[in-house]
Amino acid sequence: PPDVLVVGGGLAALRTVAALREHGYDGPVRVLGAEGVAPYDRPPLSKHLLDRTSPAWLADDLGHDLHALADDVHLARPARGLEPRPGGGAVVRTDDGALTSSCVVLATGARAVTVPGWRAATLHTTADADALRAVLGDDRRRLVVVGAGWIGAEVAGVCAAAGHEVTVVEARPAPLATALGEQVGALTRPWYATAGVDLRTSAPVAAVDGTGVDLADGTRLAADVVLVAIGARPATGWLADALPLRGGAVAVDESYRVLGPTGPLTGLLAVGDVAVRRSARHGWVPGGHWDEALHGPDVLVRRLLGLAVDGPEATPYVFSTQLGHDLTMFGLPAPDDRTTLLGDPATGGWTTLWSRGDVVTGALVVDRPRDVGAARRLFARDDLPRVALPAGHPPEDLRT
Ligand code: FAD
Repeated sequence: PPDVLVVGGGLAALRTVAALREHGYDGPVRVLGAEGVAPYDRPPLSKHLLDRTSPAWLADDLGHDLHALADDVHLARPARGLEPRPGGGAVVRTDDGALTSSCVVLATGARAVTVPGWRAATLHTTADADALRAVLGDDRRRLVVVGAGWIGAEVAGVCAAAGHEVTVVEARPAPLATALGEQVGALTRPWYATAGVDLRTSAPVAAVDGTGVDLADGTRLAADVVLVAIGARPATGWLADALPLRGGAVAVDESYRVLGPTGPLTGLLAVGDVAVRRSARHGWVPGGHWDEALHGPDVLVRRLLGLAVDGPEATPYVFSTQLGHDLTMFGLPAPDDRTTLLGDPATGGWTTLWSRGDVVTGALVVDRPRDVGAARRLFARDDLPRVALPAGHPPEDLRT
């Protein structure tokens, strides 16, 4: 392409620019960001909320210097609108005028879900983390976390370990129910009590104000700090109806080309949390996870430049450290897939496999480092693995 405009200032944007240069593209590259800081790593924001400070995690080395790689970087100039051009590419509107490019890469990531009228913190940016750490302070505080998803569980764990009084309220019957399903999510329930966290499940929230949380059943939970961690949504509000969206995300094909009403659009690509990717192996793969923002851009750039892509498609991969446990998940199981449990959660690490017929659709490894490599190898192939899982007699671990 004669020029590239990357919209977004996070991991996917940085990796896109880096991949362009790594693969020999020497045309002009421009970047528009919204946060005013260079790309940084988000997973430590929750895991190291209380033991790292802004300069440290901003300096977390993502391995590339955006300013050295791109020609024109504006980290506090958000895109306000987009108009695809008939001949390819798009015009991108900002408060400082419009930019026209023959190749626009959308990498605006996600934003934390908020509820109108709720007065509470969210956690998506380093500025959010700084603000949350400041209100928690050094004294023991009452923290209510709304949502027992990945981020809620991580923050609850580090805050309880630091001596804060932590309550987690979750509308579903089990923690992590949205990610893992209720049955598997319930296996993480005992972790809360052990960590000294008061977990309330099937507890939808009616209202959040400056001094606490009202549950739908009338219970009042007084709090010094409330964190709402009920998920993230692709940051597509600025696109208005310029592109057809799929579940709020920008739909892309296997090469990360944006899908218009009649097929891929020329000179418009999207990657990372903002996108939902069509996959021959997994169906539609949503963003929302670090690994996709890390590895997706390399495939995007290779396809854009007409270079070969080696090896099988990367499988969706998620990691989390929460309440003293290490979780690694591969694949994209559906809610009604069958689950097989390997190991005993009551006595140590365990692994869950999801399957549909004899096809393994996902694996979650908890505190069993030796299974992580085995699970990774299981998915390192072109099609989904097929494993005969004996009903009633689960094998001892993934290697058997
Ligand atoms: P983002 O990181 O969201 O970056 C997008 C950037 O674009 C932002 O800087 C945003 O300000 C900017 N932007 C938005 N709108 C515009 C606009 N209109 N114009 C210009 N710029 C714009 N994933 C895991 O797999 N494991 C984890 O343990 C894990 N932990 C996490 C913990 C936290 C607290 C958070 C918030 C996320 C975590 N994630 C984790 C998710 C992971 O961080 C994301 O998947 C990853 O950051 C996605 O990268 P991205 O570049 O697509 O989007």
